[in-house]
Formats: sequence, structure tokens, C-alpha cells
Amino acid sequence: MNITAASKGTQPKPIVEKETLLDIRNLKTYYPVKGGFLKRTIGHVKAVDDISFEIKKGETLGLVGESGCGKSTTGRTILRLLKPTDGQILFEGKDITAISGTELRRARQDFQMVFQDPYASLNPTQSVGDIISEPIRNYKKISKKELKSEVLDLLSRVGLPAEAYDKYGHEFSGGQRQRIGIARALALKPKLIIADEPVSALDVSVQSQVLNLLKELQDEFDLTYLFIAHDLSVVKHMSDRIGVMYLGNMVEIATNDSLYEEPLHPYTQALISAIPEADPKKRKKRIILEGDVPSPQNPPSGCPFHTRCPMAKEECSQIKPALKEVKPGHHVACILY
Ligand code: SF4
Repeated sequence: MNITAASKGTQPKPIVEKETLLDIRNLKTYYPVKGGFLKRTIGHVKAVDDISFEIKKGETLGLVGESGCGKSTTGRTILRLLKPTDGQILFEGKDITAISGTELRRARQDFQMVFQDPYASLNPTQSVGDIISEPIRNYKKISKKELKSEVLDLLSRVGLPAEAYDKYGHEFSGGQRQRIGIARALALKPKLIIADEPVSALDVSVQSQVLNLLKELQDEFDLTYLFIAHDLSVVKHMSDRIGVMYLGNMVEIATNDSLYEEPLHPYTQALISAIPEADPKKRKKRIILEGDVPSPQNPPSGCPFHTRCPMAKEECSQIKPALKEVKPGHHVACILY
């Protein structure tokens, strides 16, 4: 997709050491696999397999990787839409891994999600006003007049006219529906938004408008984003730092510049080599990976990438490299470093 550098909000933000908002420690999310006559658990799909990372307040961390790498499961586990198998989720220093009931309901005001499919994520029987009002009504005691005024304010912040209030989702284009979804996510003034492929279902012509809106709202509402996408040019445009996932594992995390200028993990190098580059001088040789991504139900021993890695050595099938910092702020999980 073509994202113009002149678009509003594309200037890199200065890196200032900020407080940690989200601290993920050794997170695992496994899905049980049932089999046999008695439908017993006969194995597990290791969708997220022991990942750790932090997100600072006001930062955007991009998560990339091929489909099935565990990035969406990571987002849903952090939101506690899925039960973590192990590990810890700390939000503003508070452990929310195992909270439930009223405590979880209260915590959920602070983290919201923007979904991939703006067509499926809006209830077709509710008006736009009702869709955006719902979370506010669920959490706040507020008069009808105040509620309507809050919703109209949100509509205007996401670039929709006041007339949208009484209309229904099907009356809008994909980009407008995603704006409605964003207004709903903002309704409770959350601190963290997990955006899961928020533009991948949209026409290329409107993708950059929605991305730029998300950037503007980040400054306006003091938001922190976990931005999940498979499109590396979209993630580059949006993120301060980027985490690369492969087969449920985090294989590299670095600042945007460091990752794109000097990718260290062979998997990241292959992903980046596939990004189209308009400037012929900057074009890199495309690295084609052989074979398919192995099943997360039966992941390879040692380095999860060794079955496809062009640099694999004999020991790679036995040693699982830990993510380690090899340059300031640049972490990689590979025995070559
Ligand atoms: Fe490749 Fe070995 Fe590094 Fe894994 S540990 S990425 S197989 S070189």
C-alpha cells in the first residue's frame, strides 16, 4: 500500500524513557486438541509459546508475522478474551492474569480492541448511536442527554457526521464502519488499544486514512497501541518498536529503524526482503523461504525456525535460543548472535 510521507502524523516520535503500561512475562496460550471416543485432550496447539515483552505508555508496538504465528492470539490473551495457559500479564504493574468477575470487568475499561472486520464487528440490528453508547451505558451512570452528547463528540473525533448517529452499519462503507468501531473502542477512554489487522479488510485507498486517524487519536487520547498486522509497510508506518513472531515465539524485537535497517533474525530478513521498494538503489535481494510453517501442534525441536532457516546449523535443531539483547534495544533469538 502507498502511505505518503506527507500524511499527518508520520514524523518519528522522540524516544523518551516512559513508564511501562503493559508487561508480558513468559506468556503461553495453548489450545487443547481433543480426540478419541471420549474426546480426551490428546495434545495442544501452542499458539503462543513463552513470549515476553513490554509496551511503554504512549508507545505503539507492532506485532508482525505470517498468518498463524500467534500474534492475534497474543492480543486476545492480553485482553483476557482467551485464558492464558501460563505466564503473567501486568497492566500498570497490576497482575491481571487471573482476575475475573467484577475485577476483570473494571480492568477492561482500560483496554479495548479494534477488530479486523468492520463488517462483522458491528451489530446489524443496532443504530450507530446505540453501538457507541453501549459500553458507556454499561460502565457509567449518565443521563440520556449527556450520553448522546458524548457519542456525538466521539463521532466527530473519528471524522463522521452527527447524522451517522441514527443510521445502521450497513449504510456505511468499510472505512466508515471501521471509524465506528474505533469510536466504540474509544468510548470508555481506554489506555491501551489492541488493533488486530485494523485495515487489512479495507480498500487500499482508505487504509492510510484510517491509519492516520489512529495516529491522530493516539496523541489526542494519550493512547498506547499494540498494533497487529501482517503487512510490514503498515506496521512500519505505525510503530515505534516492532516484535516479530514465528510459530508462537517472539524471534526479534527492535525499534522501527533498527529492525528495518538491520534485521538480525533470518526470518525477519526474509520478511523484510519481500517488501516492495520503489527506489531501485535500496532494493534488496528477495530471500525465498523453503517449505511451510510447521504445525504449532507439533513444533520442531530446538529453534522453531530451523526447518526453513537458510542459515541453520546442526545445533539449531537441538538448542532453542532465548531472546537476548544484542544491541541497545535490539533483541533477537538466534544462535548466530
Ligand atoms: Fe536459523 Fe539457527 Fe538462528 Fe534458528 S538459531 S534462526 S535455525 S541460525
